[in-house]
Amino acid sequence: MSAVAQVIDTNSAIEAEVELTDGFHLVIDALKLNGIETIYGVPGIPITDLGRMAQAEGIRVISFRHEQNAGNAAAIAGFLTKKPGICLTVSAPGFLNGLTALANATTNCFPMILISGSSEREIVDLQQGDYEEMDQLAIAKPLCKAAFRVLHAEDIGIGVARAIRAAVSGRPGGVYLDLPAKLFSQVVDAEKGAKSLVKVIDAAPDQLPAPSAVERALEVLKSAKKPLIILGKGAAYAQADETIREFIETSGIPFLPMSMAKGLLPDTHPLSAGAARSTVLKDSDVVLLVGARLNWLLSHGKGKTWGDAPKKFIQVDIEPKEMDSNVEIVAPLVGDIGSVVSALLDGVKAGWTAPSDAWIGEIKARKEVNIAKMSQRLLKNSTPMDFHSALGALKQVIKERPDAILVNEGANTLDLARGVIDMYQPRKRLDVGTWGVMGIGMGFAVGAAVETGKPVLAVEGDSAFGFSGMEVETICRYELPVCIVVFNNNGIYRGLDTDPTGRDPGTTVFVKGSRYDKMMEAFGGVGYNATTPDELKRFVDEAMNSGRPTLINAVIDPAAGSESGNIGSLNPQSVVKKKS
Ligand code: ADP
Ligand code: MG
Repeated sequence: MSAVAQVIDTNSAIEAEVELTDGFHLVIDALKLNGIETIYGVPGIPITDLGRMAQAEGIRVISFRHEQNAGNAAAIAGFLTKKPGICLTVSAPGFLNGLTALANATTNCFPMILISGSSEREIVDLQQGDYEEMDQLAIAKPLCKAAFRVLHAEDIGIGVARAIRAAVSGRPGGVYLDLPAKLFSQVVDAEKGAKSLVKVIDAAPDQLPAPSAVERALEVLKSAKKPLIILGKGAAYAQADETIREFIETSGIPFLPMSMAKGLLPDTHPLSAGAARSTVLKDSDVVLLVGARLNWLLSHGKGKTWGDAPKKFIQVDIEPKEMDSNVEIVAPLVGDIGSVVSALLDGVKAGWTAPSDAWIGEIKARKEVNIAKMSQRLLKNSTPMDFHSALGALKQVIKERPDAILVNEGANTLDLARGVIDMYQPRKRLDVGTWGVMGIGMGFAVGAAVETGKPVLAVEGDSAFGFSGMEVETICRYELPVCIVVFNNNGIYRGLDTDPTGRDPGTTVFVKGSRYDKMMEAFGGVGYNATTPDELKRFVDEAMNSGRPTLINAVIDPAAGSESGNIGSLNPQSVVKKKS
């Protein structure tokens, strides 16, 4: 591992053999010492050899076709494992490509570290025009939780340790680690180098809530006539699954899962209020938020969505600044979800009256109506398929294979799949998250397959798929058990737009009748073209049984979608029509 070089002691003029190491080895040793098993990245100057050497040293190195996808894979690895996912990129353009994923990880509270090679400080700082010159540290800083640069090989241990602790402690997030090219070839005494490495102890310590805060929260909860628990992806991240389940079942309080918290308890659980979302948001009087923020996805805790009745919010979050961010939080519970919920559970066990039959009955009635309405739409066996009939087939797939991981992005494909496909296990639904960003698909699919070894079903809008579609080659190269279903409706939202001048295709449409399945075949994977729900189900089953990389082009009626899916209200439309 370390090179042996001859060093001449000039004082005594005696030749001695000293074992040496360098920046490359120290970075790899520091990552390994801290239990990092996988690196996601794109090779190139100056980190090509780092990737090669990491692979030789037993770290799994997954090379992508574009840094954003590698970054997304690292981010979702962080969400799934509570260890920082590592993304490795080249300088300037590669760094910038990775930065989108780093910013997205930070926004979603996923722990990840973007390690980028960079150019020489002396030249960058004097702006003398180095190869891929860019002040990467300065650019990364406002877009992530913390950013560090290491200039001396003997500081690599501390640099990596700080990056890991910053990523996973408190509210998790993205960290940038800048490693200039020169660092890698710096040579130091191997023994000194080994001593400089730091194994991070208790990287994300438990944070217990104050007993008075727990008491206050329990009092508010006990005063509720119509209590509701909202589970967010923070609750899924916390991996306190059993505690959360026991708390909900012991208290008998209905719960509403946010998108990536689906499956924490099965969507089919009697206390799930998923199918009565608007009713419970409107009619509840006390809402306990567990790892969910009152951001746009929850209409900021106010307005029509939440109804007129007075509402009290209790919030569990590791980040104190999250409290009162949108509305008053009458009982803030600052701490890690495992510790806080277990304290609440103790309180409930000590004395508790379950919510009234009236409240539970109201929710049950609403659920039954909505589920019945939905199941009719799912059964249609039309050609071409609409979103519902295609999703009906996929709902069945996940029901039969609850341990498969569902990756989901798109507009209609996302909004409708979220409602239609029931989840049964925690951390099995991975989607566009807080930003509602397109482009996470193949990165998440690769990251999920690599980290869990479980089959992945990626349900993709045709537009969404385009952002990361080239990674089908990566999926084939690493032979990952990923089945991609592209909902092909010829365009964004719908496939019917035209150019009023008649010159070009409409701005939201793609080539009609495209065959995305051929892309997978080009790299040795399996492609199918599905035109009916029965075909779709059969092809997905075949893919899941074989574990082979598969892409199914699902032909969807171009007229079936709606503008911006469920969030059309966020998409301004001009009311002024110009006379021509
Ligand atoms: P969703 O979009 O599903 O509602 P958000 O991403 O808005 O979820 O919220 C997740 C919240 O969970 C963040 O405010 C984050 O600080 C918090 N969080 C993440 N991990 C933990 C944890 N281990 N303990 C407590 N809170 C956590
Ligand atoms: Mg589309």
